Amino acid sequence: MIDRCVRTLFAISLLSAAILSAAIPAQAQTAPIDDPVKTLVGRLDLEKYKAVIKGLSRFGDRREGTDRNRAAVDWIEMQLRTAGCTNTERFKYVSDPPPQPQPRSATAPASVIASGEIRRGVGGSRLRGMTRPATANNNLDAQSDPVLRALNAQPQPTTGPREQVYCTKVGATHPDEMYIVGAHMDGQGFGEAADDDGSGTALVMELARIFSSPDVQTERSIRFALWNNEEGSHAGSRTYAAQRASLQGKEDPPGSGRYPEPKWLGMVQHDMVLWDHGMPRADGTVSPEQRPEADVNIEFQSNAKFADQAMKLAFFFRDANEKYATDYPAAVGHHMSNTDSSEFMNLVPAISLRENERGMQIGAGWNPHYHQATDRYSAYSDKDFRLGLNAAQTTLAAIGQLTGATLEK
Ligand SMILES: [Zn+2]
Repeated sequence: MIDRCVRTLFAISLLSAAILSAAIPAQAQTAPIDDPVKTLVGRLDLEKYKAVIKGLSRFGDRREGTDRNRAAVDWIEMQLRTAGCTNTERFKYVSDPPPQPQPRSATAPASVIASGEIRRGVGGSRLRGMTRPATANNNLDAQSDPVLRALNAQPQPTTGPREQVYCTKVGATHPDEMYIVGAHMDGQGFGEAADDDGSGTALVMELARIFSSPDVQTERSIRFALWNNEEGSHAGSRTYAAQRASLQGKEDPPGSGRYPEPKWLGMVQHDMVLWDHGMPRADGTVSPEQRPEADVNIEFQSNAKFADQAMKLAFFFRDANEKYATDYPAAVGHHMSNTDSSEFMNLVPAISLRENERGMQIGAGWNPHYHQATDRYSAYSDKDFRLGLNAAQTTLAAIGQLTGATLEK
């Protein structure tokens, strides 16, 4: 017993030392006997997670710049405050002009990649096997539900002022250091953006709720960020990173013990975490059932300035999944792309969690609801939602360890 305690303490002190020296974790070899991380993971609940996704879906596709997007930001802020993450802040910025809409070719066929043919995808990936087009829907009339069509009818304005919301769990002993846990709350395609990215947004909101419980203490801070404007330009996260990088770790006002922008130790993004139904079939259709091998895909970018530390962070998350997630495994890839973590990857170790790899799988049309009018809450089964919950368990377990979470008895 004493031996085990000593080993546990040794593992914890190794972990803390690693965080302090390089902001990159070592791996705790043994779980503590009275494990607060396990208790916290147990506070995640499938029905609660689903309810937040459903709440977000009531604002339609939440296209950035529209009234439905602003209403969703207000709702998210209210939910965070109600859940106990009361120090919410608004980050204001000006959006870029949206990219020119690309006409969706409804007739673009699925195709098979020939043996030996090298077809490149985003992020440095290579596409394989059967592929389908993955172009965003830009046609309001593709929404067959008249109520949802009316909700999504306001066109997206060009440039203009925008807002996004975040809240912060302040660390008890290191309030000047934090991990950023993010997702993008905007969507597109004239559906409900339930998977992309209601699923990631709900995950971050649920973690904010659990870490904000009065009996939870963390040594380091955690910022829960719901980026706006990811679709098209990443303007929300990009502007945040550009404007706030230089404020890191500064006490303001001096002597106050307050750090408006704690030093960034790592950034983890959650973007589409529900659907893993496998490769399209030979006829271009996709299985309506989740594949038995469904997993959470953790990605870092091998070309990033902090690639090596991000890789270690990614495997720390995979290890957290093996120790704490209830149903689905996690896999690590090195082609992170096309999401808000890209804006942090040359400043700090950054990773993303998804239902599939962005380049090789999502980019090859594995999710037929991706950016479509059909990305609705009703399109997903409990197996799909549970994959998202396992992504939440993975991040909660990893961040809980990295920030030194403990529970009051
Ligand atoms: Zn997305």
